[in-house]
Amino acid sequence: MKIIRQPAEMTAWSKHRSREGQSIGFVPTMGFFHEGHLALMRMAEQQADRVVVSLFVNPSQFGPNEDLSAYPRDFERDSQMARDVGVDVLFAPESGDMYPPESKTTVTVADLTDNLCGADRPGHFTGVATVVSKLFNIVRPDLAVFGQKDFQQLAVIRRMTRDLNMGVDIIGHPIVREKDGLAMSSRNTYLDAPLRRSALSLSGAIQQVCTLAVEGERSVQRLNAAVEAFITSFPETGIDYISFINKDSLQQVTTVDRDTVVALAVKIGNRVRLIDNGFVFQD
Ligand code: AMP
Repeated sequence: MKIIRQPAEMTAWSKHRSREGQSIGFVPTMGFFHEGHLALMRMAEQQADRVVVSLFVNPSQFGPNEDLSAYPRDFERDSQMARDVGVDVLFAPESGDMYPPESKTTVTVADLTDNLCGADRPGHFTGVATVVSKLFNIVRPDLAVFGQKDFQQLAVIRRMTRDLNMGVDIIGHPIVREKDGLAMSSRNTYLDAPLRRSALSLSGAIQQVCTLAVEGERSVQRLNAAVEAFITSFPETGIDYISFINKDSLQQVTTVDRDTVVALAVKIGNRVRLIDNGFVFQD
């Protein structure tokens, strides 16, 4: 596996592969890999001749009070894991090379970024859309794989890719979970044993919504109340949002149907914010 740090070298590698007729699959990440990241890499390998993974903890998607400096990092471990799953290139640029001081351009996706994490984290999705645009321009992939765990991010990237005619196929990968249901996340590493038990409130709440819906409950008001009571019954949980949204528009709904996704963001303890989501009807 090749490790590339310079954007220009990355582009040269990709152009070379494309000239040889090889397709390029791309998985953008912020590192500290877990099985979720590896599953995305394997999916890219199934669908493209060559796979590039980027590892970049993107400063522009973190707010001033968020965990940028504390974000977990382990380059050696990550590169070994990527090598082991057969990734061709690990692209790990420096922040100064991604954002030279003279940069003036950002990418903003309207409407889809107004609610959910967009409301909680102002500027977050402009940071995401901008860095993904830059990474697409540098890596020039044919396809890119993103996790459904970041449901809103996936919708924003799909919209941006279409709106700006980027010509990259966007593939969504289902959420990869621990055996007990917790959605895998680099941030899970912050959780001690009691907090980890509280973190199960997210997947448990989604399961509860599914059960109630199958039993016939359609009212978002009542489902919301049940979810709120369930999550707050766990110690040290603070709800950022519980939203029932349409899978495409991301607009809130008042009654649930087959296109409804329940999306959650919950603070566990005072420094870990976790997200999770799932279709209300899962079959
Ligand atoms: P991150 O490094 O957290 O920015 O994540 C990089 C990519 O991995 C994003 O597309 C995430 O949606 C995806 N991802 C992270 N955790 C999971 C998971 N548990 N299941 C599926 N995809 C995931």
